[in-house]
Amino acid sequence: MTISRKKILFLLFLLFFIVLYLRKIHPPLKVSSRTDFILGTTVTLTVYDKEADALIHSAFEELRHLESILSVNKANTLIDQINHSAGIMPVKVDPDTFNLIQSALNYSSLTDGAFDLTIGPLVNLWHIGFPDAKVPSPYEIQEVLPLINYHYVQLDTSNYTVYLTQPHMALDLGGIAKGYAADILATLFKDANVQHALINLGGNLYTLGCKPDGTPWTIGVQDPFHPRGEIIGTILQSNQSFVTSGIYERYLEDTSGKKFHHILNPHTGYPYDNQLASVTIISETSMDGDALSTATFALGLTEGLAFIESRPHTEAIFITTDARVYLSSGIKNLFTLTSPDFTLCYSPY
Ligand code: FAD
Ligand code: MG
Repeated sequence: MTISRKKILFLLFLLFFIVLYLRKIHPPLKVSSRTDFILGTTVTLTVYDKEADALIHSAFEELRHLESILSVNKANTLIDQINHSAGIMPVKVDPDTFNLIQSALNYSSLTDGAFDLTIGPLVNLWHIGFPDAKVPSPYEIQEVLPLINYHYVQLDTSNYTVYLTQPHMALDLGGIAKGYAADILATLFKDANVQHALINLGGNLYTLGCKPDGTPWTIGVQDPFHPRGEIIGTILQSNQSFVTSGIYERYLEDTSGKKFHHILNPHTGYPYDNQLASVTIISETSMDGDALSTATFALGLTEGLAFIESRPHTEAIFITTDARVYLSSGIKNLFTLTSPDFTLCYSPY
């Protein structure tokens, strides 16, 4: 009797230590998440593996700091200072902002200006996404077009200065800065040893690590013709950025019902009209993904897809206005079409 009691006690102890050990290797999942409106969009940050409220708080502080440097919608930001000094004098910036502007300039040059970081005067004219958005007159458009030219940006790499050489020029980093911000948050989370997180800056998604159960995240690709949340298909991925540019969320509708989206052609002054509804880029860094989603949208289906194929570790999903879906070569086995309204089309890669 005494022996069996000892045995039971021993087994209970053993069980206790096994539970302790298992909790150490598989601690119970904690989820910390917060949503806020910032950078003109809804941002949700979610950390899955540990208590991270303080970390998420610092991440939002970082976003506010970035907004105070990069926004063109707030007075006295660094970008605002550069724009107000156009044709007058160079402005000194911090090395990180300098690198961002240099990357934006690089994408402008790689796409021969289809993506152009000096698009500011045209963006201000249309002001799509704001209450005073309007279709500008052809005269107004002709007046600003000569100001849009990335060749007029002078960067001094030894002094970190940025100079817009023509008066009234203006930088607009709306096509790249959210990606840059997502990368900064990903680094912040990685430095804090976070293993599993989702960074969602208004649809610019970065998946940190894999899902807590060790499998890849399943990401839905937005249906460009239906409300947010309805998807055309899914893709599996881990540790990747997932950025979409499209015609369907930020646009202006005139009195006749004609829609004008916000990705503007620096040569015509009007939104690109190239039969694309959206482009999604899957890449390692979100800055690349953001710039490339806007840039390949601007380049159009054929040129855009060829551009993506020429870049390592970068994939794309192009959706046309007539509901065809084109995939780059590296994701053909990772993407599943789920909507019967869309057709997966052959792409030559
Ligand atoms: P993307 O395709 O990534 O970018 C499209 C944007 O790029 C356009 O809106 C325009 O800004 C720019 N663009 C257009 N044509 C070209 C071109 N040919 N080449 C290069 N760039 C082009 N929005 C608000 O409504 N209110 C705010 O207060 C506000 N603050 C912001 C602050 C910051 C720091 C940033 C980065 C953005 C802010 N926005 C704000 C903008 C908003 O979040 C935009 O919707 C967003 O930047 C556009 O991103 P996207 O992913 O929708 O489209
Ligand atoms: Mg973009």
